[in-house]
Amino acid sequence: MTASLLVVGAGASGMASAIAARQTADRLGIRREDFSIVIVERNSRVGEKIRISGGGKCNITHEGLPQEVLRKGFFNRAEERFLRKALFGFTNSDILELLLKKGLRARAREDGKVFPVEGDGTAVAEAFESLLEDSAVRIEYSSRVTKVLFRDGLFEVFFEEGGSLGAEWLVLATGGVSWPQTGTTGDGLRIARLLGHTQTSPSPALAPLYLVRLPSSSLAGIALRSVGLRVFSLSGEAVRRGDVLITHKGLSGPAALSISREAALFSDKDKKCAVVADLFPDLTDAVLEAELLRHAVEKGSQMIRKFLQMCPIAPTGGLRGSSLNGTIPTALVPLIMKHAGLEEDVTWSTLPKIGRKKLLTVLKRFPLGEVGRVPLEQGEVSAGGTALREVNPKTMESRVVPGLFLCGELLDYAGEIGGFNLQAAFSTGWLAGSSAASQLQE
Ligand SMILES: Cc1cc2nc3c(=O)[nH]c(=O)nc-3n(C[C@H](O)[C@H](O)[C@H](O)COP(=O)(O)OP(=O)(O)OC[C@H]3O[C@@H](n4cnc5c(N)ncnc54)[C@H](O)[C@@H]3O)c2cc1C
Repeated sequence: MTASLLVVGAGASGMASAIAARQTADRLGIRREDFSIVIVERNSRVGEKIRISGGGKCNITHEGLPQEVLRKGFFNRAEERFLRKALFGFTNSDILELLLKKGLRARAREDGKVFPVEGDGTAVAEAFESLLEDSAVRIEYSSRVTKVLFRDGLFEVFFEEGGSLGAEWLVLATGGVSWPQTGTTGDGLRIARLLGHTQTSPSPALAPLYLVRLPSSSLAGIALRSVGLRVFSLSGEAVRRGDVLITHKGLSGPAALSISREAALFSDKDKKCAVVADLFPDLTDAVLEAELLRHAVEKGSQMIRKFLQMCPIAPTGGLRGSSLNGTIPTALVPLIMKHAGLEEDVTWSTLPKIGRKKLLTVLKRFPLGEVGRVPLEQGEVSAGGTALREVNPKTMESRVVPGLFLCGELLDYAGEIGGFNLQAAFSTGWLAGSSAASQLQE
């Protein structure tokens, strides 16, 4: 049996590629019976990861012009450059327009994240399923590809369940390696390697940080709102701003997930990587020191402990400014006192200058601990993958094997939280499918 175009993987990128291929072929006036499109998927339904995305609510994309989406979503310059053509070619408006054809409306939240108005990730997956049906795309479920051969200009795709399928064009859209229970166990990486592609080893991204030891078990469950988070090792450091959640294993929340890629790299390289929180990220050391000093003069009899219990966290307008982020969590106060070496009953007037300096240091660099592990399998995405230099960013065609297209998380990029990863999967998939079908006119 053969297909004109065979797509491996019915995730975000694979489904987008099949729909784009059909639209392109239709536009070229190619009869549907002359251009068959088949998706093979190891799961028994499409879009397993789409269904769990955004805690099940599915943060489909991020609002803004393509330029902004690229800037906010992809900090690595090489990745941003690689994705440019795809993200400009198939934008956030394009994906939302496509889903609207199936009645799925979406809306941007204040933070720019776009979610379905009604329904959830399953509704998005089902909309895709229906679009695939309209596009006369056949889906072979429970079919796991184990090997691909390329000979005489044709692909032969072999299945774990037995048998094979031939194809003129092949799209590999098998995703990354995180959340393996959704079907993403790195098969596509192995297949691409056997076809001659090089890989950057997969590494965690958008994953929690497991700490060697929690600063205190009493902190599990608390949130540090809008703080600065810094990870550092011998060879480098990275900083993010945002909410951090302390779990019973370590750190989670947007800032921790975002910084996890660097934390994993530093831990791997230097075997030791520490993490600290800046509770006053909008105030420099000098400004905070001046504010503490002024406070000490004004409120000499106040106990430091009491001050900390009422102190805003991450205030924008200095110590007196009201903080939208609440106050320093009560459970943190005894630890701040301990790290600063302060006695329970010390007041501003009995605090020596050295004590004030220590307090400043702890407030700006509260030690959260040492990163023990960044669990690859827990990441919303995995970094690493097929080398970008081996894929043409204008078409997503392999520079190694003609007629082979690669898209989605299988490629060596990873975006930030906020809908950027699904958008990149839709955009690279769309480009891959339309480029493959465009070859029909050559
Ligand atoms: C918990 C979680 C939450 C997330 N939330 C968001 C979010 O809200 N917004 C966002 O933008 N991103 C989110 N992401 C990331 C996003 O879901 C992925 O980046 C995106 O789905 C990747 O699309 P893809 O097409 O490359 O791969 P996938 O969607 O993973 O699809 C790959 C498909 O290939 C199939 N496959 C793999 N190997 C084979 C094989 N050998 N044979 C046949 N089929 C195979 C898999 O079963 C799978 O269906 C989240 C991820 C996770 C894990």
